[in-house]
Parts: sequence; structure tokens; C-alpha cells
Amino acid sequence: MKPHQLTIHQLAKLLREGVLTSTQIVESLLDQIEKVQQKTNSFISLFKEEALKEAMGADALFKKGDKLSPLTGIPLAVKDLLCLKGKTTTCASKILENFVPPYNATAIRRLREDGAIILGKANMDEFAMGSSNENSFFGTARNPWNLEHVTGGSSGGSASAVAADECIASLGTDTGGSIRQPSSYCGIVGMKPTYGRVSRFGLVAFASSLDQIGPMTKDVTDTAILMNSISGKDPLDTTSADVPVSDFTSVLTGDIKGLKIGIPKEYFAEALLPDVEKAVREGIEKLKELGAEPVEVFLPHTDYAVPTYYIISSAEASSNLARYDGVKYGYRSGDEEGLQKMYEKTRMEGFGAEVKRRIMLGTYVLSSGYYDAYYMKALRVRTLITKDFENAFQKCDAIVSSVAPTPAFKIGEKVEDPLQMYLSDIFTIPMNLSGLPAISIPCGFSADNLPVGLQIIGKHFDEGTILRAAHAFEQSTDFHLKKPEIVI
Ligand code: GLN
Repeated sequence: MKPHQLTIHQLAKLLREGVLTSTQIVESLLDQIEKVQQKTNSFISLFKEEALKEAMGADALFKKGDKLSPLTGIPLAVKDLLCLKGKTTTCASKILENFVPPYNATAIRRLREDGAIILGKANMDEFAMGSSNENSFFGTARNPWNLEHVTGGSSGGSASAVAADECIASLGTDTGGSIRQPSSYCGIVGMKPTYGRVSRFGLVAFASSLDQIGPMTKDVTDTAILMNSISGKDPLDTTSADVPVSDFTSVLTGDIKGLKIGIPKEYFAEALLPDVEKAVREGIEKLKELGAEPVEVFLPHTDYAVPTYYIISSAEASSNLARYDGVKYGYRSGDEEGLQKMYEKTRMEGFGAEVKRRIMLGTYVLSSGYYDAYYMKALRVRTLITKDFENAFQKCDAIVSSVAPTPAFKIGEKVEDPLQMYLSDIFTIPMNLSGLPAISIPCGFSADNLPVGLQIIGKHFDEGTILRAAHAFEQSTDFHLKKPEIVI
């Protein structure tokens, strides 16, 4: 195996043993990127020279033997809506094409303090709005398992970069499924932490009450390692929670005997493709063999989750995106035609179609006369959905379901039909509405060899339980070890 094919924990061991240098890891990744980036379009920007320089710094530390963390010298990718000081942070939008933030996102700062190297910024749907990465101003990312198929979205580039071995692991963000759905489509592990677990400072906001940053990795141990680095209270984000962060790797015991797993009836409805249902049901059988005890749970408001999400997330987006007016950030057009025209032209030319659709919808549901009918009602339904989970968790320790109703669909298949596109997040959105942590892990393949993901959902701040269950599952299966042909 070449260095770029290994996991964080495998590389950390080799680095410590002196078998490998960080410079060799970066070089190996750069070779791989050279080979496949044309096909996958995983990255919006790459920092080759800086990465090599930082790798030399890490190698010097290893020589001295001090200041070592499991992330020292490990090259990562981050979704291009996380601010990295001095580097463009585009949100895959024309309006921020040239925006260079003067500070680092807290999650990035923490990774760097632990010695990680940021190798590049990953492709995504514009402002994280989308389920296929087709809404990127920089072109769609392609699924390494089949280049005709989508990566999923919105963290599509973060997923394809990991799946195609173009980085060792990455960060994505999840507002309605954007870490878990692309992880499932690309056959990797991806976790949305509990809302408040990871600071959102320096994450360009889409829907502030839903957005969370999380790891996208080749296996569960790597997710635990990244969680250790990025989690915890941050004075710069008032919604970050003051909840103790224990070592997430210490819970990976392989033992899930007696773990009660809830199986929600509503998540096995008609929308689920037979191939996907089969893989997920086999996954549940595997968990049973390992000692988990399935119990039936009910999430009766599931049908309302998608409409509720689109009202709340679009309302928040319309407010968050009001700041892009040609004055404060990025792109400006129509200067010579007066202030009003400048605003209009900047936004008309700077935003893509999907972003405009969300701004219009959001402005509508917040406007007087419709506020009570739509926005307030959506907030009430959000509470009902949250209560569904509270009730379900009376009977179980974790809930298991599919991540998405289908495997990765074909590029172009759903672009003309936004409602169909929105339904790809039907099983992931409820956890954002209720702030719960959830992980996607590889659990099989469809008949045409596209990955399928199993979702494990936990109680608030109980990432430990879902990591333990996911890890036990992974130990007894080999889906996460399979590689797409283009990387072999
Ligand atoms: N696909 C969903 C949307 O388009 C979720 C996006 C996300 O999680 N960022 O809004």
C-alpha cells in the first residue's frame, strides 16, 4: 500500500516508528491528485508548496520527538466554506470567488494546532445548498465509484477526495445531510456531531440553527481522532456547548452486547430502493449477531421533516445571505448604475439558481402575513419531530436506518426536479432539526457496485455510543476496505 491509501491512525504509527515521513505522505497524495483530480474534480484549491513546507516542519518535530499528536503531519482537505486564513474561501459561489478571510475557522485552527496539514479546499454545492454537488460554480465533483454518478452533496468534494485517496481525511458540514449522504454515496465514514459539539466560528453560515462541522474519513477510528481535535466549547461561538469532551477513541471497544437499537418503521417506507433496503437490513442483522438488541420505534412526524427543513433552512439562509451585497465581500457588479442597481446586479450575477430559489422561498416564509402560516408552524413541527426522537430514545440507545433512499444517482438525473433532489435527504434531515448526532458507515453495495451507507443515530452528546457501534460493525465487515477502480 502507498502512503496516500492509508488511514490517519495507520500513518500516525508509521510516522512515529520512523518508517515514513510526512513529506512522503504529501508527495504520495500529490501524485494521486495529479492522476485523478481531472476526473473527480474534488478540489477547488490546492496548497502544494505550503503542504510540503509544513510536512518538513512535522518531520523535524518527529526527529526531535516532541509535540506529537495523532494528527501531526497528516494532510487533510476541508470543505471550501471553512475559513482558512489567507486562502480563498469561495463556498463554490461566484459571489465569493475572490474572498480571502483574515482568520481561521476554529475547527481548522484546532486541527492545525494538533499538527495537521491543510492540503486543499474541497468542492461543494454553492453555499452548501444541494444534494449532488451539481450546484458548484466550479463544476460538479464526480463519484470515484462511477464517474457518471454524483458524489452526493453538499460536501461532495470532501467525500470524493477521501474515497479517491486524494487526502487522508476531510471536514465537511451537514445542515440537512451534507456529510452523511455524500459519505454514503462515496463509501466512506462521515459523522454529523451533536449541534453545539463543534464550534461553527469561521464556517460560512447557511442555516445557523442546523449547520454542524464534522469528519469524513476512511474508517471509524479516524472519525474519532478528528472528533477529539475539533470538538469542544469555543468562546467565539455562543452556540458551542460547554459539554466535556472525553477521548472518543477510548470507546472503540468492539463490544456492543446488549445495546438496544431502535428500528424506525417509517424509515423503511416505499421510498427506499430494494438494493438499499437489503444492505441496511443485513447491516441490522450483523449488529444483532454482535449482540445488539433491536426494538421497534416510531417516528410519526417523519413525513413532515423535509418541508419543515426547507422552510426553516431557507428562512435562515435568506437572512444569512443578505450580507452579500457587493459592499462587504467578494463580487460586485453594476457600480456605475447607482447603489440599488449595484445590489441587484451583484446578487443576480453572483448567486446561482438554487441559492436564488432558497432566498426567494426564505424571504417569502418570513414576510409578514406568511410568517405565522409557514415559519412559525415549521418551528412547531420541528419541536414535534424532536419529541419523536425523545420518545424513541426511551426505548433504545441508538437508532439505525438507511442514510439515503437510493445509492448515488446519475449526474443530471435530478437537476430539473428540485423536489426529487430534496427527497434524497429524507432520512438525514430529521437529525439536523433535532440536533442529534448521526454517522454514516459503509454497509454494502448496490447491484451496479455503488456504495450504500448505514446510519446510526445517537442521543444528544452521545457520539460515543454511535462510534462504538459503528466501530464494532466495521470490525466485522470489510465494506470500508473496498476501493473504487480509479484508485487502484
Ligand atoms: N441537501 C440539503 C440541502 O440542499 C442539505 C444540505 C446540507 O446539509 N448542507 O439543503
